[in-house]
Amino acid sequence: MKFTKDSKIPDPIPSCGIEQAIKLMETGRLYRYNFSTEFNENADISSLELELASEVAQLEVEFSEYTGHKYMIAANSCGSALFLSLKAAGVQPGAKVLTNGFTFTAVPSSIVHAGAVPIYLECNELYQVDLDDLKGKIQAHRDAKFFILSHMRGHISDLQAIEEICHQAGIYLIEDCAHSLGSKWYDKNQKRERLVGQYGQVACFSSQSYKLLNSGEGGFVATNDDKIAAYCILAAGCYEKLYKKHLSRPFDDGLFEQMKPSVPNFSLRMNNLTAAVLRPQIKILESKISEYNKRYEQLANILASAENIQLPSPPEEVYRVCDSIQFNLLNLTNEQVEKFITRTAERGVKIQIFGRLDNSRYFKNWKYSFDEAPELPQTEKIISVACDLRISLSFDANDINLIGYIIKDVLYGLIKEETQADYKTALSDHFEGVDSVISKYDEWVSYYDEEHTKNGWKILLNYLGYLLSSYLKSNDKILDVGCGTGLLGQELNSYNFSNLYGGDISKSSLEVAQSLNIYKSLDTVILGAELGIEDSSFDAWVSTGVFTRNQVPLNAFEELIRILKVQGLLIVVLRVEDNDFYYNKIKEYYSQNTLEEVLKEKISPLRSCNHEIVIARKIGDKK
Ligand SMILES: *Cc1c(COP(=O)(O)O)cnc(C)c1O
Repeated sequence: MKFTKDSKIPDPIPSCGIEQAIKLMETGRLYRYNFSTEFNENADISSLELELASEVAQLEVEFSEYTGHKYMIAANSCGSALFLSLKAAGVQPGAKVLTNGFTFTAVPSSIVHAGAVPIYLECNELYQVDLDDLKGKIQAHRDAKFFILSHMRGHISDLQAIEEICHQAGIYLIEDCAHSLGSKWYDKNQKRERLVGQYGQVACFSSQSYKLLNSGEGGFVATNDDKIAAYCILAAGCYEKLYKKHLSRPFDDGLFEQMKPSVPNFSLRMNNLTAAVLRPQIKILESKISEYNKRYEQLANILASAENIQLPSPPEEVYRVCDSIQFNLLNLTNEQVEKFITRTAERGVKIQIFGRLDNSRYFKNWKYSFDEAPELPQTEKIISVACDLRISLSFDANDINLIGYIIKDVLYGLIKEETQADYKTALSDHFEGVDSVISKYDEWVSYYDEEHTKNGWKILLNYLGYLLSSYLKSNDKILDVGCGTGLLGQELNSYNFSNLYGGDISKSSLEVAQSLNIYKSLDTVILGAELGIEDSSFDAWVSTGVFTRNQVPLNAFEELIRILKVQGLLIVVLRVEDNDFYYNKIKEYYSQNTLEEVLKEKISPLRSCNHEIVIARKIGDKK
């Protein structure tokens, strides 16, 4: 199965933004200082005056209300905004600027643009700035008085700690919020959440297409500081008395007149078309954030069942906005990592690894910023297995399921390849009664999971979870028949099935399943005997590795069909090698009009045998 959508599909522009852009083009007023001729720049700014202002001037006011800053200066990119911030903060040529060793190339580039020298900091497994390294580098570089803290891919470093460290050391903090708009950090002192961007003296934002706001290109400087604001306004390209056409500024004309002669004009303005497409997006930011986070949660939940995938679990202080997913691949060889990337790409899921020579987020590729590559062994280790995938709002729930399925399918396939051996301890082909089944499973429990993972069993379970998401609703009541240690339950749970019940013959297996905390209840069941469950209680039951090799008597179906609701589904994985032993019994129910077939599909994940998934619907009760 292949995924065919492009994860680089940007978010569309709301229709009112499109209409406004067309109106603007008709008037030709694209320059940010093209105000309506009725605007009286000497009047006090009232809402009436604001309506006469240009799109950019209005956007600045509206965006500052969202971020909670006094002043907002629009620019042509976040890279430009960072450059302006450094200049405004007084960075001189040759000055040292602390910054993340794991970020996007635009960040060190802005430092180089300002004539300064980046000092790179290590990141940790949560992709945060490593605080010990920060403290160490502050000690080692006592002349480093500026810090661009980049919230890379919305992973927020310990902002409260960093705020304090910077305050103590007299370091000027600039937050790069290009990819963290809307994120929050809980301030323990103030006992409230503060938006990311509120912790530094300056915050910079981006509206490049792959960020939360999309205007193709665009950026912002946000600050509460009068002088920084005045500097950025002038340096972005405001001359003569045009500062009067900024409505998110210090209303202190003397300050502008005084600073003007000493501030260069770098021409980094935003134009009105850009602002016209952005303004309606600010109004829908919150709903957009919840749409992105919903998709992220779904995908993260699917991936979380894979042992080799480590998803960063953010600290409790943080509220994240996730328009992309990052995870670390654990316990794979370099060759396996390579295959993982190639095979997922072949199936349409284009994952990037940060620490690659073709990735602009890998510090070794920033040769323009150093003579000798910085030593960042911890960062190097983390980003060499750190995967990155953009989540597009054009993906629906089925798309997310498919992406998650493909990622795990490839991964489970790679793990399966590791061993050439088959089951160490195959099941005997014949069981002599219930006791022999119980003792086999009780003995098996300690190495059951490992053996099954290595043998490719998880490929089947992942497929089943994915498949069932198109046959069942997430709150359907499902009985996992022969749930064992809960391997299938975990996969089902990863696809958001939460109303799970389990039953098994082996008490020791049930103890393991219990520890997973995914089943509503777990009970000992002996198939073929009475189940002690009411008629019509389940929307579905599902069973893998149970109806095989004569482990279960044929009369077990009777009880299992009884407990299904009419229209409920029976989902069973059979072994092809069993010569239709169980399938023939199911067919009897078809001919009695008790069940009807929904699906019969062959699947061969194991080396040792082939399987068949059978899904049947209960259409009536037996008279
Ligand atoms: C995109 C990005 C930037 C640069 O933003 P532009 O608007 O493209 O200049 C800077 N930092 C981070 C973390 C980014 O993701």
